[in-house]
Parts: sequence; structure tokens; C-alpha cells
Amino acid sequence: MDNNTQERAGGTEPPERETMEFDVVIVGAGPAGLSAAIRLKQLAAEHAKDVSVVVLEKGSEVGAHILSGAVIDPAGLNALVPGWKEEGAPVTQEVTADRFLYLRPNSSIKLANFLMPPLMSNHGNYIVSLGNLTRWLAEKAEALGVEIYPGFPAAEILTDGEDAVIGVATGDLGIGRDGKRKTEFTRGMALHGKYTLFAEGARGSLSKKLIRMFDLDVDCEPQKFGIGLKELWEVAPERHRPGLVQHTMGWPLDNKTGGGSFMYHYGDNLVAVGFVVHLNYENPYLHPFWEFQRFKTHPAISPTFEGGRRIGYGARALTEGGWQSIPKLTFPGGALIGCGAGFMNVPRIKGSHNAILSGIFAAESAFDAILSGRSGDELESYGEMVRNGPIARDLKPVRNAKPLLSRYGTLMGTILSGVDMWLNTASTSLSPTLKHGKADCATLKPAADFAPIDYPKPDGKLTFDIPSSLFLSGTNHEEDQPVHLVLTDPNVPIRDNLPVYAEPAQRYCPAGVYEVVSDSEGNPRFQINAQNCVHCKTCDIKDPAQNINWTTPEGGGGPNYAGM
Ligand SMILES: Cc1cc2nc3c(=O)[nH]c(=O)nc-3n(C[C@H](O)[C@H](O)[C@H](O)COP(=O)(O)OP(=O)(O)OC[C@H]3O[C@@H](n4cnc5c(N)ncnc54)[C@H](O)[C@@H]3O)c2cc1C
Ligand code: SF4
Repeated sequence: MDNNTQERAGGTEPPERETMEFDVVIVGAGPAGLSAAIRLKQLAAEHAKDVSVVVLEKGSEVGAHILSGAVIDPAGLNALVPGWKEEGAPVTQEVTADRFLYLRPNSSIKLANFLMPPLMSNHGNYIVSLGNLTRWLAEKAEALGVEIYPGFPAAEILTDGEDAVIGVATGDLGIGRDGKRKTEFTRGMALHGKYTLFAEGARGSLSKKLIRMFDLDVDCEPQKFGIGLKELWEVAPERHRPGLVQHTMGWPLDNKTGGGSFMYHYGDNLVAVGFVVHLNYENPYLHPFWEFQRFKTHPAISPTFEGGRRIGYGARALTEGGWQSIPKLTFPGGALIGCGAGFMNVPRIKGSHNAILSGIFAAESAFDAILSGRSGDELESYGEMVRNGPIARDLKPVRNAKPLLSRYGTLMGTILSGVDMWLNTASTSLSPTLKHGKADCATLKPAADFAPIDYPKPDGKLTFDIPSSLFLSGTNHEEDQPVHLVLTDPNVPIRDNLPVYAEPAQRYCPAGVYEVVSDSEGNPRFQINAQNCVHCKTCDIKDPAQNINWTTPEGGGGPNYAGM
């Protein structure tokens, strides 16, 4: 490292942070955070009251870190911006056809639509780029007076020293890889709010800490997750079926491994294709990235991409625990909203409508509190609105789908969850609520129980390797900064994970961040290529020792997704 450009600050205390005061601080400019911001300002205008709202976003711009399918249920958008169609929301492609296939190695079976519970229908839903929708929501929020700061991760929770959250601090800039301050060091800002809403999406780094700090999950089942990998393709015009939504399950995953694919046709010859692997898988040799590549070679899938061009790649974890895994949502001074709390409807593969609704409810609760002169207490009415409103009505009927899949495998689990969803369509009290059991970090079995999987080599036309995929994600981090993937004990990967699980981080990471390499004496060494990280959070979830902590890197680092 260049000593001239670095201040060897030794143990000196960092300078005091400057503080900015707001009524409401929001962490994360996804659907949940932006909806909360918009609703606060709408209410402020209705009541002729001035309410200051700030949104922090770790991506270099709004949407840069958003990755979703996405077929959206417009219920959230209808509630937030009833005139969204006339106001030019990038939500134009209505679903025209809905297909569900069960894949076998060389054949497929189409499931009849009438067998599907009505709640699974995509009639009236829209195919969108969620990244573009958040960009549009951000414009709306700014027009209403919301301050949005992209490139500013919230790195620290600020408390009053007792039990209330008073805001967050943005990350410091200009710290070298060795942890020392460089000459360009800039201290992060403290943002204080009467209430702070955490809208970080699945496995938010501060949300995870809040759940621990306030024991928010003591009365619920463990949260469950999946990793979703996605590519965006520009396909040949004759292969494009605007409005077609297709989902598959089965091959290439075995019956014990949950997951499946999505393929959505929209826009200008665009096809969003993705593959989700449930993170409760057992085989440490499983490699979600290569499963996705292999899936595209199926005869029912590959023709769509003939003559097409891949233009985007990325990955992101999604929550799968559903109703029984929702933690307590509030704590003194703030609340969890969106997928940071986990409002994803797993069988419908939809979470954005509930993220928007939760943002609206939290905003309404915070606005009432501010109007009556409160601050720093619990927004209890928000929790009630979630538990007794449309989010509950969406999630309760499907609450057993995930546990049934986990217990009985894909085939029998799908049949049973279909029956359960039909029963729950009649009344949610007809079946008991099933438990999830283990957290995803505890489901791997020893590598000795399995044989390594020999994945086919990529052809560079339909299937690709990780480096060329990463190039399309646009991911980028300043190299001279502390590694943001923090190991609690640096010895665990080689000492514990390698002999027992063949160090699965080498495979579950969709960006090739983790490698086991040989040092100069031929001994294995765990290498972290942090600059490749696409912020999917899978390592933080799946590491069997829970030894990897995903923390926010320097501002603006991470993927630069366009239209994902
Ligand atoms: C592969 C995949 C497919 C999906 N398909 C669908 C679908 O078809 N339909 C559907 O409705 N839903 C779908 N979902 C789910 C949907 O994407 C989520 O429900 C939705 O994005 C949740 O919104 P959110 O605002 O809670 O979080 P996110 O959309 O994850 O947004 C969180 C934002 O907060 C930012 N952030 C996080 N931490 C910090 C921090 N500490 N400081 C500053 N900023 C931070 C992030 O950069 C991001 O911009 C899918 C998800 C995945 C992964
Ligand atoms: S390092 Fe972790 S968060 Fe980053 S891409 Fe890999 S698994 Fe995802």
C-alpha cells in the first residue's frame, strides 16, 4: 500500500460525526422504503404538516442493487399511487399467459391451470423490471420533497444509550484494506430521526442486528431463504411471447432440493429468466450458479434463447419463511418493513406488493405518532396493520406451502401444498400452521455423504461462466478498503468447513467470491475476492458456522444492475 496516500492514524479516535435531524430516516430505497417515504409525504401534504424524510441507499443509484423477477401484483401500487397508469409507471406488460411445467431430464409435463389454487393465478398482474419501478418511485418521492442519498450505506445503528433507536450512521469513507485511515478519509454522517424504518430487503445487515438486539424473533419460526439467480436476455423476435409467464420445478434439482425457475417475456424482446434454489438444501457440493446454467439447456427451455443475447446477470436472496417467520416488527424508535421482515409469498413468488403495503402501513403509523407529538417509541399500530390486513390475508393461506415442500420433497410437497392452499382458500383455520424446523445454516450434511457434482462446461452461447456473468452485473468495489465480508473466526473455513463440508462457500456464492487456494507451502488457504460481491447475502445465511458477516462496503460499491 502507498504510504504517501495514507495517514497512519494509529489508534487516534475518528473525528466526531456531523449530525442531521429528520422526522423519519429510511434505510434502503427499494419498494418498501420508497413507498414509506412517498406515503409520509402524501400524508404531510394532506394535513398541511411539514415532515422531513430521508432515504439512504447503498447502491450507486436507486435500482442499482434491485434484483427481482418480476411479476407484480399491483395491489401495493394501487394503494400507493392509484393513478400509476396515467402517471407513466413503467408497468405496462400485463400477463397474458401463465404456464407451469414439471421438468424431467429430457421432457416436461404441463400442469393444468384449473388444478392451481385461485390465489396462484397471475391474471391482472404485470411483468416489470423492479429496478426500473423503484427508479420511478424515487422520482415520485423526490418530487414530493423526500431527500434520497444513493451511494450512502447505513453502516451502524445509533441508539440513545438505553433501549431506543435514534437513527443510523453512514459508513466512513477512505479507510484502507489494513483498516487505517487514508488521507481522503471522511467520517460518516449521523442521521437522527424520530423514527427509523429499516427497508433493507432480505437479510438486511442492520435488520439482522436489530432482530438480535431486540429479540424480535423469539416468538416466530426461523426465517427461511432462497437464492435467486437471474439473467436478462434480448431474444429473437420470433421467440418472444409478450406477457407469457412460465414457471418450472423439478430438473435439474433432485426431489429433495427445493427450487425452480421463472421466465417472463416483456418489453422490447426481453426475457427475464431466473432460477431459485431453496437454501435449506443438504448437499454441500450443490452449486446454484451451475444448476441455473444447466437448467437453460433443457429442451423445453433452450429454444427461447436461440439467436438471443444475454444482457444482464445478478443474484439476490429472497425470504421464504412466510407468515410463521415474521418477527416482531417494531422496537422503540423504529420498525422493520418489506423483505427485511420477510413478507414474501413463496408459492406466488411475489413480495413486492407486500413490501409496498408494509411501507404504507409503517408510514401511516409513524405519521400518526409524529402528529400526536410522539417520538422514539414503538409504532404498534404498524404491527397491527400487518397482522390484520391485506398482508395477512395474502400470507396466511400459503403458510404451509414451504414446510410441506421441505418435509415431503418437491413432488409430494407440491401436491400437499396445493391441497392445503385449496383448503385455506375456503378458510385459513382448516389446517394447523406447520413449523419450518431448522434454520438454513443447519441443513447441510457432511460432504462425505455425497459425490462431487460434475457440471457441464459452459458453451458461451446459452451457458456461461461466473467471470463473464459478473461482468454483466457491473459489480465494482474500491479495492483498497476493508473486506466487507467479515469472518468472526478466520480459522473456521479451513479448520472446520473444509474437512466436513468441502467449504461450501466456494459453491453457494454466485459471484465466485470465496476460493480455497494453496499457499506457498501447499496448504489450503481461504481467499475472499470481496470486490466481486453482488450483495446477495447468501454467505451470511448459509455458512454452516454462521461465521460470515456481510457488512456494508464503502458507499456505491456493489452491482450496477440496469433493468433487473
Ligand atoms: C430472484 C427473485 C425473484 C423475485 N420475483 C418476484 C416477483 O416476480 N414478484 C414479486 O412481487 N416479488 C419478487 N421477488 C421478491 C421482491 O423482489 C421483494 O419482495 C422486494 O424486492 C422486497 O422489497 P424491499 O424494498 O423490502 O427490499 P429490496 O427490493 O431488496 O430493496 C432493499 C434496498 O435497500 C438497500 N439497502 C440494503 N441495506 C442497506 C443499507 N444498510 N444501507 C442503505 N441501503 C441499503 C438495497 O441496496 C436495496 O436497494 C423476487 C425476488 C428475487 C430475489
Ligand atoms: S460474497 Fe456473499 S453476498 Fe457477496 S455475492 Fe457471494 S454469497 Fe452473495
